[in-house]
Amino acid sequence: MWFRKEVSETHNSPVPDFIFDLVNHLDEDVLLIGPGDKPIFSSNGIESLNVLRDGRVLTPELSAIVRAVRRTRNPHNGKLEIARGPIGEGTRELTLKVVALEDEDLILILISDESEAQRVHEVRRDFVANISHELKTPIGALSLLSEAVLSAKEDPESVTKFASRMQHEAKRLTDLVQEIINLSRLQDSDPLSVADEVSIDDIIQVAVDQCQTIAQARKIEVAFTRAPDAIVLGDGEQITMAVHNLIENAINYSPENTKVSVTTEIEDGIVQISVTDQGIGIPESDQARIFERFYRVDPARSRETGGTGLGLSIVKHVATKHGGDVSVWSAPAVGSTFALRLPIYSNTGETNS
Ligand code: ADP
Repeated sequence: MWFRKEVSETHNSPVPDFIFDLVNHLDEDVLLIGPGDKPIFSSNGIESLNVLRDGRVLTPELSAIVRAVRRTRNPHNGKLEIARGPIGEGTRELTLKVVALEDEDLILILISDESEAQRVHEVRRDFVANISHELKTPIGALSLLSEAVLSAKEDPESVTKFASRMQHEAKRLTDLVQEIINLSRLQDSDPLSVADEVSIDDIIQVAVDQCQTIAQARKIEVAFTRAPDAIVLGDGEQITMAVHNLIENAINYSPENTKVSVTTEIEDGIVQISVTDQGIGIPESDQARIFERFYRVDPARSRETGGTGLGLSIVKHVATKHGGDVSVWSAPAVGSTFALRLPIYSNTGETNS
């Protein structure tokens, strides 16, 4: 589906009609240079690229390319690194196609910004580096423990101890791999392109049921108060995974014999799912970072509970992809409330308790 991009004329020279069509059908931004190297038309996105100022081409390299294309009539394809602004070290890499238009004294420049693609590439690269590091820990532990088992083979008590630690590390490895699979599945799909109508009450019920075993093991009661249901457009499995992660964390970071409650609230077309615990809480200085991949307040505690450091980054990803958000309120030794907010598709208005 094509959206009409707003266009702006920067000069009074005639702009060929086909340029307007071009702007509406291309992903690239368009800049049209007239006689005397004066820009006569620019699509809206050009403004933010820092290539024009006061009706002139700002970048000497771009001016030089335009002159060369005008002289030789040979198209130019290439990249150009330009500053993001007048100050600072930030740059962006633009991909350029520059062509001289036949029979007109016009130069057409198509520009696309590769910085976003570059940023995604960097995020992926960091993620791979982090994963490698995270995987090394349990693998290293397994290797050491297997050596320990071998050298203690005459001592059944030690063998049992080392073997059970091996089991623990193997489980950790499995959890980590599962979370990585979840995350990469999420990243490859846009939940809104194949969206279902999903009942938030049903989703919470499934997520609560999934967490019952670990809740019972920790003697924690998970209470879910049903409210008027909300229907959200999206991927039910992904939203269930997000709610599951919040409930699981609430259980894992709470002492035994406490309570976790899940409630929903509807306001202004938004459903808010709140998961509240009476747990250890999160210091304010860490609250902004807990949604980052592999960030943990207390890595030892996270490891103890089988945490991978990926749970909340998955929640954030799901929220964002569904046009919602996730936030936290927390106080150490008091507890935490995580609120996942999603836009409602329709509201049945019924209480189905
Ligand atoms: P993990 O697998 O380590 O639980 P998450 O991404 O789910 O990773 O959470 C990141 C960190 O945020 C956790 O390691 C923990 O320090 C903190 N955290 C998450 N949820 C809670 C909670 N309900 N109570 C206290 N701390 C929490």
